[in-house]
Amino acid sequence: MADSATVEPAGSESNPFVQAQMRLDKAAELINLDPGIKRILSTPYQELTVSVPVKMDDGSVRVFTGYRVQHSVARGPGKGGIRYSPEVHLDEVRALAAWMTWKCAVVDVPFGGAKGGIICDPRRMSQGELERLTRRYTANLIDIIGPERDVPAPDMNTGEQTMAWLMDTYSMHTRATTTSIVTGKPVGLGGSKGRREATGLGVAFTVRESLKHLGMPATGCRVVVQGSGNVGGLGALFLHEMGHKVIAISDMYGAIHNDAGLDMPEVLRWLREERTLEGFPGAERLDNAQLLTLDCDVLVPAATEDQITSRNAAEIKAKVIVEGANGPTSAAADVILEQRGVFVAPDILANAGGVTVSYFEWVQNRMGYFWEEQVVFDRMERIMVDSFHSVVEAAEKYQTSPRIGAYCVAIERVAYCLNLRGIYA
Ligand code: NAD
Repeated sequence: MADSATVEPAGSESNPFVQAQMRLDKAAELINLDPGIKRILSTPYQELTVSVPVKMDDGSVRVFTGYRVQHSVARGPGKGGIRYSPEVHLDEVRALAAWMTWKCAVVDVPFGGAKGGIICDPRRMSQGELERLTRRYTANLIDIIGPERDVPAPDMNTGEQTMAWLMDTYSMHTRATTTSIVTGKPVGLGGSKGRREATGLGVAFTVRESLKHLGMPATGCRVVVQGSGNVGGLGALFLHEMGHKVIAISDMYGAIHNDAGLDMPEVLRWLREERTLEGFPGAERLDNAQLLTLDCDVLVPAATEDQITSRNAAEIKAKVIVEGANGPTSAAADVILEQRGVFVAPDILANAGGVTVSYFEWVQNRMGYFWEEQVVFDRMERIMVDSFHSVVEAAEKYQTSPRIGAYCVAIERVAYCLNLRGIYA
């Protein structure tokens, strides 16, 4: 059923916070959310903008702008990644923080939602510069982060090494090694087995559950993946291992395509060695716009926001979209896709395998006892499958899309906690 009531303010399609807000409005109406609770959930709980001075390798000093937004701590400490990118802006961080609140609630892990970012171009910075940037940013956030306050994690252009620096800086300030301050750490420094694979594997489980739900074949589907990083690359690999045919995949420079199916282990080996997909033998080159509109069964956008919009939604040929990235589809595109009968497994469900295993990492850090990889994967799979069913049941109950169904599940859970906690005055 189309969300025909969705009215998008002019020029807002590329503003992710407006997009997040529109979905909140729609779900709030369906579940008849109390207007006071809605007001709380429409406003980030806490935001900090910091200036981060860094001595560069050439001796000059640059000042970077960093953000940390905590959207909600109603269900537990804030949780969410840190993004390094020249394009980071406050409304993007706000949206990503809100999506973390909904995502943690959809998979029912006891966290709120937060997100951070620094405006920088990590490809033009040395390891030493990145380390100094990360340490000073961490020191600037010291009063608002903590294992019971806000637990960061990696996001685009940050990884295990960044998290190790963050953990060390926090630990130096608190005079105690505090592994549970951050997730996505290297295994051996308090990281969880399976964290690296978790988001991509969760995406693959969501594809499997979506196909089952729709009565489509469990193997042999033609899959297109946008992005070949942690989520897209590993997601494509797991889908390949499940017996599907990955016919195209991209990075920020463009895509490779072979209708007979790409050999994913070979593609990832090529990418590791060449640092670009370009030149992969036996594949034709496409641009990112062509990739999104390829004829296929399943499309997995796993790069960045704002990729499927009112400009290209009518051209999408996939029957199923499983959102590996956060916010790849605009609210206006949702309406077009729904009218065309495309099943969209939304980001706050589909890529939640990552935060689920982050929760396991935080638990293991606090227990001081580490789990086998298979235990991690089995527990994550159970949570992903249960969450998928909660979402489609809510979509049926409220006669809406799986996306708005997921928002209904999440908002009801957060509102329940807000009601029980009450308003401290
Ligand atoms: P990554 O940096 O490992 O990979 C990003 C990929 O997208 C790369 O292949 C890059 O070349 C490509 N890309 C970047 N900008 C692009 C653009 N403008 N157009 C086309 N391609 C572009 O990042 P990741 O960790 O795989 O994250 C990808 C998305 O998944 C992000 O939206 C992130 O927020 C989301 N996500 C990540 C995790 C996680 O655990 N890593 C969890 C949940 C959601």
